Amino acid sequence: AKGQGRNRFCFYTADMNVQAMAQLELEAALRRALERNEFLLHYQPKVDLRSGRVVGAEALIRWQREGGGLEAPGRFIPLAEKTGLIVAIGTWVIDCACRQLRAWSDDGRPDLRLAVNVSGRQFASGDLADVVTQALARHGVAAAALELELTESMLMEDPEATIATLHALKRIGVKLSLDDFGTGYSSFAYLSRFPIDTLKIDQSFVRNLAAEPEAAMIAVSIIDLAHRMRLKVIAEGVETEAQLDYLRVRECDEMQGYLFARPMPADAFGCLLQDGARL
Ligand code: C2E
Ligand code: CA
Ligand code: CA
Ligand code: CA
Repeated sequence: AKGQGRNRFCFYTADMNVQAMAQLELEAALRRALERNEFLLHYQPKVDLRSGRVVGAEALIRWQREGGGLEAPGRFIPLAEKTGLIVAIGTWVIDCACRQLRAWSDDGRPDLRLAVNVSGRQFASGDLADVVTQALARHGVAAAALELELTESMLMEDPEATIATLHALKRIGVKLSLDDFGTGYSSFAYLSRFPIDTLKIDQSFVRNLAAEPEAAMIAVSIIDLAHRMRLKVIAEGVETEAQLDYLRVRECDEMQGYLFARPMPADAFGCLLQDGARL
């Protein structure tokens, strides 16, 4: 670099240093977290609106930092995405989810489905189908019990490649769902060509169901669209009875949200099942 001789320890301003250092530290901590097995999954129940019964869960990653608190994904997934670490983390998530499915099955609940979130980098990595196949085989789990939550933006990056990847996943037999639906920009043309099973209405529409006619209109349109396409539809972020009633009347299939339960550790989810909790 220029001026190396005179000022070699003064490349950056203090501010840039602090920011860059914090990121490097977090990245190193994330790598260690993988090695030390500091990640864990929490489970948020998915409930069938007709029967009121728990039909499965969404797995949501948490990071138990050594000597620290439990970090939510918003604190580390973005950097994991940026650095590519998300691919290794995602592989761990799929393996851990399959191990949990095995445990539920051994406990007499082979009917439960478990959904995992897939990141864009992981989806585009080229070996998602292999990772899924291996995890299912390793734990002896039926493919149909595993669901992958994908987002529209991830699928629309390269729609033709997406269609091939989705078909490879469907051949394995896993379920595919479109997360945060309504916030991206899928075209109807592609939507009909993506072999998906479920649309997941984004929380932003659910939150404003009662207060904003526009949000309610969009939610109803998504339910309608899903059913016309013979897809299942689930609402997430359901927090109030009013939202629930609305979704019931409109014949949404499933719900997920704080109204029923927050994401919880595996043992708490086991207790909830044991108690036969119902909506
Ligand atoms: P998401 O997939 O849209 O997950 C739903 C988020 O909403 C979760 O936040 C969940 O705890 C929260 N939530 C559930 N019910 C309610 C409710 O009734 N009200 C409100 N206000 N929030 C509710 P969380 O666990 O912090 O996860 C945030 C995001 O992080 C997820 O959004 C997902 O995009 C990402 N994420 C979580 N786990 C993973 C993972 O294993 N891999 C990847 N790639 N991303 C993950
Ligand atoms: Ca999700
Ligand atoms: Ca979502
Ligand atoms: Ca989201």
